[in-house]
Amino acid sequence: MKILSVNAGSSSLKFQMYEMPEENVLISGVFERIGIENSFYTIKINGEKIQKNANLENHEVAVNILINELLDNNIINSLDEIKGVGHRIVHGGDKYSKSIVLNDEILKDISTLNELAPLHNPANISGVYAFMKQIPNAIQVGCFDTAFHQTIKEDRYRYAVPDEWYTKYGVRKYGFHGMSHKYVSEKVMELLDKDLANVIVCHLGNGGSISAIRDGRCIDTTMGFTPNAGIVMGSRSGDIDYGIIPYMMNKTNMSISDIDNALNKQSGMLGISSVSSDFRDIDAKIAEKHKPSILAHHLYVNSIVGYIAKYYVELGGVDAIAFTAGVGENAPHIRRMVVDRLSCLGIKIDREKNDEFRFGKEGIVSTPDSTAKVFVIPTDEEVVIARDTYSLI
Ligand code: AMP
Repeated sequence: MKILSVNAGSSSLKFQMYEMPEENVLISGVFERIGIENSFYTIKINGEKIQKNANLENHEVAVNILINELLDNNIINSLDEIKGVGHRIVHGGDKYSKSIVLNDEILKDISTLNELAPLHNPANISGVYAFMKQIPNAIQVGCFDTAFHQTIKEDRYRYAVPDEWYTKYGVRKYGFHGMSHKYVSEKVMELLDKDLANVIVCHLGNGGSISAIRDGRCIDTTMGFTPNAGIVMGSRSGDIDYGIIPYMMNKTNMSISDIDNALNKQSGMLGISSVSSDFRDIDAKIAEKHKPSILAHHLYVNSIVGYIAKYYVELGGVDAIAFTAGVGENAPHIRRMVVDRLSCLGIKIDREKNDEFRFGKEGIVSTPDSTAKVFVIPTDEEVVIARDTYSLI
């Protein structure tokens, strides 16, 4: 059965087509600069990457081109072969704790959550409408980034703020990167060959979050009401004292949206290093002994170690810690800096082995006598979408 896995952003649309249940990727690609001049798309098929320019006025035009590419490349002979399209939807609020078959009514209901994710949900939803129009016979499925965290209990998802903020306005922890945490924790359980296990997943990318997972169920995660909570990130501050906000507004003429922009786009590794949000640029500066970049690394590692320690205690010990996403998969020195700080728990990294794990390599990087196994697991949010879509069909 052929299934498309889709991630529609405001100006982009990423896709992968799977043959299910085998999970073979038949074709993948991304449409970029949708609705902006100089738009183009890239497709990957049989290991070959092709880039083409196209006037991508809106998502519908992109979907139309996608269909023609599927037909031209003989991936499908007719549209009826596409049985399902699974869509990443960032925010499902506290209503959507599982993936769901979409229809007009449900999409309208999901739209009521737009205020919780104003940059993402409207774009995700326009992606769904574009596919509904172009491939009307396929079942459309919504897969939420927040869903995996819906198992977090109230004494962990509530903030100690006036009750009405929660009951009337929905202010609570939601958590994000759910599909990645789900994929990686399931993979770890499979590799451990266990049904019951305590796992900490460190999703360290440009955005970053850590989750505490007991027997496959998330009990806590670092992102909160918004993705800006938790660990230091590429350009997001992570946790800060909220009192900084009125203080800076008084001291400067920054508006609340200037502050929001600064905490989301000019903070984190970029803010501290003044170099870049990208770890590769910061590493290059560290090689030149650039002190702010070294400091940025330390702040980053401190914030990760702090949450691992917290979750270790909350879980009552762990069977495994897993690293994933851009930094987690490709930066062995960051993994080493983190795990070296866990030696008091008996968790130890095999330095030589750790250095070998980059660019998609999956496996264990801890020493045989480590009290918990340390894994590197390349994340795969697309396959989670394809799996959920297949199982709903
Ligand atoms: P993601 O958000 O998961 O796509 O991760 C993107 C981030 O991963 C980039 O901004 C980099 O900071 C980091 N990254 C990617 N490749 C490498 C690498 N080879 N070494 C260090 N960091 C990397």
